[in-house]
Amino acid sequence: MNPKILQLSDSVINQIAAGEVVENPASIVKELIENSLDALSKRIVVDFSQGGFELIRVEDDGCGMSKEDAILSLKRHATSKIRAVEDLETLFTMGFRGEALAAISSVSQLELRTSDGTSSTKILASGGKIISVEPCARNRGTTIEVKNLFFNVPARKKFQKSLPANAAAINRIVEMLAIANEDVAIYLNGEEFAPMTRKERLEEILGPHEHEVIGSGLNGFVCSPLKAGTKRAAQYLFLNRRPIFSPLISKAVKAGFGTRIAEHEYPRFALFLDLNPSEVDVNVHPQKKEVRFKDEAKVFRLVEKAVEKAFSTKQSLPKEIVFTPTESSFSENFPKFPFRAEEIELDFDYRDRSLGVIGNYLLLQNGNLILVDLKAAHARILFETLKTEKASSQALVWPIEIQLQREDEEKAAHLSELGIEMRILNRLLVIDALPPFLEPDQFPEFFQSYMEEKKIERATARFCRASKKRYSFEEANALWHRLKKCSDSSYDPLGNPIFVELGEEHLAKLLKI
Ligand code: ADP
Ligand code: MG
Repeated sequence: MNPKILQLSDSVINQIAAGEVVENPASIVKELIENSLDALSKRIVVDFSQGGFELIRVEDDGCGMSKEDAILSLKRHATSKIRAVEDLETLFTMGFRGEALAAISSVSQLELRTSDGTSSTKILASGGKIISVEPCARNRGTTIEVKNLFFNVPARKKFQKSLPANAAAINRIVEMLAIANEDVAIYLNGEEFAPMTRKERLEEILGPHEHEVIGSGLNGFVCSPLKAGTKRAAQYLFLNRRPIFSPLISKAVKAGFGTRIAEHEYPRFALFLDLNPSEVDVNVHPQKKEVRFKDEAKVFRLVEKAVEKAFSTKQSLPKEIVFTPTESSFSENFPKFPFRAEEIELDFDYRDRSLGVIGNYLLLQNGNLILVDLKAAHARILFETLKTEKASSQALVWPIEIQLQREDEEKAAHLSELGIEMRILNRLLVIDALPPFLEPDQFPEFFQSYMEEKKIERATARFCRASKKRYSFEEANALWHRLKKCSDSSYDPLGNPIFVELGEEHLAKLLKI
């Protein structure tokens, strides 16, 4: 046996390459729609049957092709989109590798009908070989039918997922492309995907558009931390209209959520990022699903900061609250003041009409009703006071003393980093001053949570949740007003919402009208 080196034929090369570009029916649908988008189509009609294995048809009203171009389009590395490597720097089209049609036709029976407005051509190909080229009749645009996918590579077919799984994958990719291109009408098996606005479409998939994310070249939204899941599936990212997957951006979004989300959870989001093509390398993945950013740190910061800002006070507090002082706002025994006073300069200019306290909830009115979970509000304020402000502690008339176990000494010593003035004398913890919003008589409870929880987020949330404290009306108002100064006034340190706003429609729902 004398092994001999042979140059592989084009059709074999295309079949091998097809493994990368067209791994499944959904990736074919994606390539075909992207070609239609690149051809500036306004209407794209997609149909498929049997999970896409039996038939995929994509019809568009784009620029179409001449007979010569149509024949070339099925050849590998034939593209109208770039001429030189430098062109990648200014690329605004989806395709550029000139691989998709060659790869798709090499593993299927393909029919291409196209018209550039002057002549119309029909090409039949099977397993990558052109069988016939003839004139036909059609309007400007292109129709590509891919039949009997993988008929000549049965091994590939064996490794495919079930028909419903493939159908679902096609749905998702069409949906993504429809969202990214809201100015194009896209139909899938008779159902229209657009022209619904991106926002509506995304809300249908992800739920309400909760926190708007805006940055330079960036827009979109993140959902409430409460909706975070343990899978990445609800993360939609579009770079220059291209749906992509980017671990870097997923991480940056998560960083922007900060402590609002648990470590193992993934935020839900939809973000549209527009960067100059020279700042991205799209040529790192055969299906162009991943990209490389030239300056990763810059993109990371941009996304992280914008997400952080999405949670900021201004956006998340109800707007346009009208000033209507009421008799009940401050009862006659004011200022019998609750949380040791100094910290709270009461701002009489405040705009909410406080209605009353019900258990651990404060009810306010500003057109809508706002129901504030006081424990959650207290936890947020205490957390920020301890963690970020290192607030001015107030000396205690009677120092608090707690006997420590030997093993607790070290952790107890770290209390001083939270603005709590303390000494440890022969294993006796002496507290001389406490920051606001931490009452001396509650300190032992707080201390227990602090010792048992690793993170201060958890310790504050747990302490406030477990506390038996009942908030007076004045205290509740003080919390609400102090909350507005927090960097985040929507969520407690564990990501639970602090308040809900009830409009007329919510009330109607509650009353099942
Ligand atoms: P690429 O998109 O990377 O250039 P493809 O193999 O997907 O490579 O397509 C090859 C070429 O065929 C494209 O560059 C384009 O000129 C042409 N083409 C493909 N699909 C269409 C279409 N729907 N309308 C017009 N031209 C198309
Ligand atoms: Mg293409």
